[in-house]
Amino acid sequence: MKYLLTLCLLFSFSKPVSADDFAWQKLIELTDETSGIGARPAGSDKEKETAVWIKKQWQLLGYTVNGFPFEFSLKGQKLTSENLSITIKGQSDKILVIGAHYDSTGEKQGSLGTTDNGSGVAAILDLANRLKAQKLAVTVRLVAFGAEEFGLQGSKAYVGQQQESLKHVVGMINLDTIIGGDKLYVHSAHETPYKCKAVSKPNYNSSTKLRDELLSISKDLFAENSHQLHPAFQGYPQGQTGSWSDHALFACNGIPIAYLEATNFAIDGHSGNDGYSQTTHKDAWNCLKQDGLTACDRDTEKKWGMIWHTEFDRLDKLTVMFKDRLKLQLTQNIDVLEAFIRQPNNYL
Ligand SMILES: [Zn+2]
Repeated sequence: MKYLLTLCLLFSFSKPVSADDFAWQKLIELTDETSGIGARPAGSDKEKETAVWIKKQWQLLGYTVNGFPFEFSLKGQKLTSENLSITIKGQSDKILVIGAHYDSTGEKQGSLGTTDNGSGVAAILDLANRLKAQKLAVTVRLVAFGAEEFGLQGSKAYVGQQQESLKHVVGMINLDTIIGGDKLYVHSAHETPYKCKAVSKPNYNSSTKLRDELLSISKDLFAENSHQLHPAFQGYPQGQTGSWSDHALFACNGIPIAYLEATNFAIDGHSGNDGYSQTTHKDAWNCLKQDGLTACDRDTEKKWGMIWHTEFDRLDKLTVMFKDRLKLQLTQNIDVLEAFIRQPNNYL
């Protein structure tokens, strides 16, 4: 018995902590209300606490963190936030930006921003851990954007402040809600230019090459469970997305983008098959009709399979609903990103 116990202890100590455990641990620290930070609305003290926490995580890994504070107004009130970034120098000066916003919304509904966008933040922290002290062909810049949920304030400020270094940026991958939804997708910018109002000299880029490269890597690694392109729906050709997250500002600055997202475009949601409904899980519906994946009664349905900005976007509920799926999705996204950065690359 004693021998067995020693053996077990030996094994548990000798097993290295795998990188997915690292990401998962960061997701708990960031989004668990009791042991971690919890909700972090744009411009709030909680958002500032999150910025300090992210900075510390990167510093603990040995990186120098750059902070870019900015101001924005919300309903006539002046608020402040900050973008944070680290640069992992590669052999080439070409820069690949991988970004995720760290603010959350829906706190009044009970959201703690676990999928939106604790998941993206956990991924950029994990990538920093995985890429530490590695020889990379390309320079990788990881960016944590503040205040996305109120009009993409962080990425607007970032592209305004970084015009010079943007000349070296060869691609931007946006991570926003990369777990939770039933399927994993990768999108490109829409072929019809975004409005780009916040950009003084827009130079729109709708290239699909970054998306296609990530898609092909995901297929190689995960076969039938890989990322996919969403099917065409009204106004949105296959695999193309709108301007509703931080990638938009980069596309408007002439940079090819890709956007990783977990949702379910097979659901006929409130406004059709538009990806706003993320899951068929019964808890997220009053009543889901299996035939056509839509509400039993479209006039009375309240939930529509949504996780983001709702009472479901928190670890305690999500782990009951989906068990290990969240952790697997998180790992899968990070594995694809890491493989993309490491491969002798057609794209970079
Ligand atoms: Zn988001």
